[in-house]
Amino acid sequence: VTGVSKPTQAAEASAPQSVVLAIDIGGTKFAAGLMTPKGGLLHRSRVEVPKHANAEALFTLLSDLVTEQLERAEQQGVRVRVVGVGSAGPVEPNCDTISPINIAAWRDFPLNARISDLTGLEVFGDLDAKALALAEGWLGAAKGVANFCAMTVSTGVGGGIVIDGELLDGASGNAGHVGHLIVEPGGRRCSCGARGCLEAEASGWAIESFTGRPPSQPTYEVMQQTGVLVGRAAAMICSTLDLGLVVVGGGVALGFGATFFNAAQEEMDRRLPAPVVLPRPRLTSVRLGDAGPLVGAGAVALRALRRRVERRRAAAQSGSSSPLS
Ligand SMILES: [Zn+2]
Repeated sequence: VTGVSKPTQAAEASAPQSVVLAIDIGGTKFAAGLMTPKGGLLHRSRVEVPKHANAEALFTLLSDLVTEQLERAEQQGVRVRVVGVGSAGPVEPNCDTISPINIAAWRDFPLNARISDLTGLEVFGDLDAKALALAEGWLGAAKGVANFCAMTVSTGVGGGIVIDGELLDGASGNAGHVGHLIVEPGGRRCSCGARGCLEAEASGWAIESFTGRPPSQPTYEVMQQTGVLVGRAAAMICSTLDLGLVVVGGGVALGFGATFFNAAQEEMDRRLPAPVVLPRPRLTSVRLGDAGPLVGAGAVALRALRRRVERRRAAAQSGSSSPLS
């Protein structure tokens, strides 16, 4: 997998290497890993999320994963400095509480404090789709690209937007949640109450509810039509925000493969005639594969630390703050 290193003999170095404990809270699985400052994963593991466990049983599962990583860190002679979390939404800023749609037992679950209590470390969290945008912009398909959108098309639909090199947060931290763009006016009813949202037409749960088959067993028409609708949303996002690239991941999109991606790019081209956005925006697959969510979670922590340093630096300089002085 691109951008992910093999385990290294970090213990050989005189000073212990600092790593980030990265945690991914997905709707169907938890994962945790140790990430180097360069985005390599030294070690990682994952566990399926049982459908009917209560809140504490779920946290015990997660605690076991986290504890395993902390033990690995000790064995490998690396020092865990901070925790980064990417979580399925909705979440409160910094994952102070999380209420993932697919984890019914966690409603306003105080994830940040619980992980901080467990590890004794500072914890930074964000939405999984925003975390993925950080990862793909850092080491993946959008590396070196200053303006792009990362979309996940899986059980639900999410997204993260990077403009001028910075991931957007928005007023409530949910900027980039593209799932409620209306791609089929008068279409299927969405959980939000509207009709024809991308999430109601192209997400895994939507596909399963209207085809009666899991998205892992799609017909050609479903793969093609899902691509068209995602391409339609991508076109709106690109023309509104002046983006040149949309990176798409998530189990549904990746599972539908070339049929999906070709249909999405064609629809995007059709919706963005040449004078509207130049050069023609591209739509492509994520590149970090199943490492992406953990690298993204780690990147959430690195971003938070970097921004804190920048804020302190700005505060120290605020005496001569006028740009004209
Ligand atoms: Zn909706």
